[in-house]
Amino acid sequence: MNQTYQKNDLVMVTIEDIGTDGEGIGKVEGFTLFVKDAVVGDVVEARITKAKKQYAYARMEKLLTVSPFRSEPKCPWHRQCGGCQIQALNYAKQLEYKQNKVRNHLIRIGGFEAELIDRIIEPIVGMEEPYRYRNKAQYPVGTDRDGHVVTGFYAGRTHTIIPSTECYLGAEENKEILEILIAHMEKYRIPAYDEETGKGQVRHVLIRKGFSTGEIMVCVVINGRYGEKEYISNQAKLLEKLAMINGMTSVSVSINTDKTNVIMGKEIHTLWGSSVIHDMIHVRDMRREGYPCTGQQLTFALSPLSFYQVNPIQTEKLYSLALEYAGLTGREVVWDLYCGIGTISLFLASGAGQVCGVELIPQAIEDARDNARSNGISNARFYVGKAEEVLPAFYAGKQDEISAPGAEFQGDLRHPDVIVVDPPRKGCDSACLSTMLQMRPERIVYVSCDSATLARDLRILCDGGYELRRVRAVDQFGHTVHVETVCLLSKRQIT
Ligand code: SAH
Repeated sequence: MNQTYQKNDLVMVTIEDIGTDGEGIGKVEGFTLFVKDAVVGDVVEARITKAKKQYAYARMEKLLTVSPFRSEPKCPWHRQCGGCQIQALNYAKQLEYKQNKVRNHLIRIGGFEAELIDRIIEPIVGMEEPYRYRNKAQYPVGTDRDGHVVTGFYAGRTHTIIPSTECYLGAEENKEILEILIAHMEKYRIPAYDEETGKGQVRHVLIRKGFSTGEIMVCVVINGRYGEKEYISNQAKLLEKLAMINGMTSVSVSINTDKTNVIMGKEIHTLWGSSVIHDMIHVRDMRREGYPCTGQQLTFALSPLSFYQVNPIQTEKLYSLALEYAGLTGREVVWDLYCGIGTISLFLASGAGQVCGVELIPQAIEDARDNARSNGISNARFYVGKAEEVLPAFYAGKQDEISAPGAEFQGDLRHPDVIVVDPPRKGCDSACLSTMLQMRPERIVYVSCDSATLARDLRILCDGGYELRRVRAVDQFGHTVHVETVCLLSKRQIT
C-alpha cells in the first residue's frame, strides 16, 4: 500500500522530470511530488508544503546529489523571484525542456500522432546569449523595514518587494538608473507608494531600451503630481543625473492614482527629451530562398504605453519564420489577426500583395498605422476589433460597417491566400477559427505563446480540413518556462 504523506514531512526523492511551472517532479512509491527549486537529475531532501491523496507539493530543503543539468545561476535572487523559474537548469536542457513541452502538448492535447510530430517538428531556435535579452523592465518602488526606499521585484506570487537594483535578464543601464532614482528619493524625502494605504508618491519605474539604437526611456509612475510646477520634488536635479546616462533619450512620468495592480497610468508627461524611443527590426533578404522579400529595416517608435515584444533579437527570428512559413510570392492577400502594433503585418507586407491587421486595442492600431506610414508601407491596413467579430463580418460581406482608413483595397478579403494568427495565451476564439475554415486560405500560420491552447486550436483546424506541415519553437524568454511556437498548416486538397 502507498504511504501517504502530510504537510511538513521530509522525504528523499530523485527528480525525474520538469513540471509546467519549472518545478522538479519525482516519485516516492508511486506518490508524485512537485518540488520547488529542484532540478531534473537532482536527488533532494524535500519538505512537503501541501499534501493530497495521490500527490504533494514540496520545497527543496537539502540538495543531496547535484544534477549534471544544473548550472550556476547569475542571479542571487532566482529562488525568491517570480520571474525566472528555471535559471538553475543549464541552457541546453532548458531548450530541450521547451521542445518537449511543445511536442507533448501537440500529442496529448492536440491528439496528433507522435510519428507525425517527430517527422515535422524542427529544432527549437535558441538564444546566443540567454541573459540581458529584455528591452523592458518595470520595477516596483517601496519602503523597507528601516524606512529606506527600495526598488526590486515581487517575490513569487506575492506583492512583497525583494530589494534589488539588478535583473540579469534586463539591460545593464537599469541598475544605474534605479540607483539614481533611489538616491534622489532618499535625499529629498520623496515617499514610495504604499499599496495598502494608497499613500506615497513613486509607484513603479519603467525602463525601456531600443537595442538596435541604444536609445533609453525612463518613465516614473507616480501617484499624482507633487506641486504646481513639478511632478517630482526637485525634478530638475533628477533629470540632470538621468540625462548623463549614455543613450538616455526620454524621461517621463505616468500618473496613476488608482488603487489597482495596473502598473501604468494613461496620462503621460514627457519631462526631458523625446516622447518616444526607436527600435529597428530587420526583415531578412529572402530572395535566394525563393521569396520576394528584398530585405528591409523596419523602425518602430515606442512610447511608454506601446506594446512591443520584449526580446527583439528572438522576435526577428520568430517573425522571419512566420514570413517563411507564409510562403509569399508578392501577390497574396493576407490577414494578420491579433496584430498588436502591426509588427508581423509590416514584416509580411514586404512579401505580400496586401496585408490586413486586426487588433482589439485602438491605441495599438493607431501605432500600427503610424508605423506603416513612417516605414513607407502602403499595402497594409488595420482594423480595430475582436478577431472573432471582424473576420465573420468580412465573410458575411458587412465590411463597410468596419472603419479602416488606409490604402484602397483591391484583393478579395473574403478569400485570403494566407491567414496569420498570434493570439494571447488563451488562444483563438472558436468563432474566429470557424470563419478561418470557411474562408479556406491556402495556408494558415499560427504563432503562439501557449502551446496548450495552440494544440487545442490546431486540432480544430485539422479536423476542419487542414494539415499540419511545420512546427518550430523559438525561445523568447530564457530562464522562464515560456515558449513561443510557429506552425504552418496547409489546406488539404479535396479529392
Ligand atoms: N502580433 C503582435 C501582438 C501579439 S500579442 C506582435 O507580435 O507584436 C496578442 C495581441 O492580441 C495583443 O495585442 C492583444 O491586445 C490582442 N488581442 C487580444 N484579444 C484579441 C481579440 N479577441 N481580437 C483581436 N486582438 C486581440
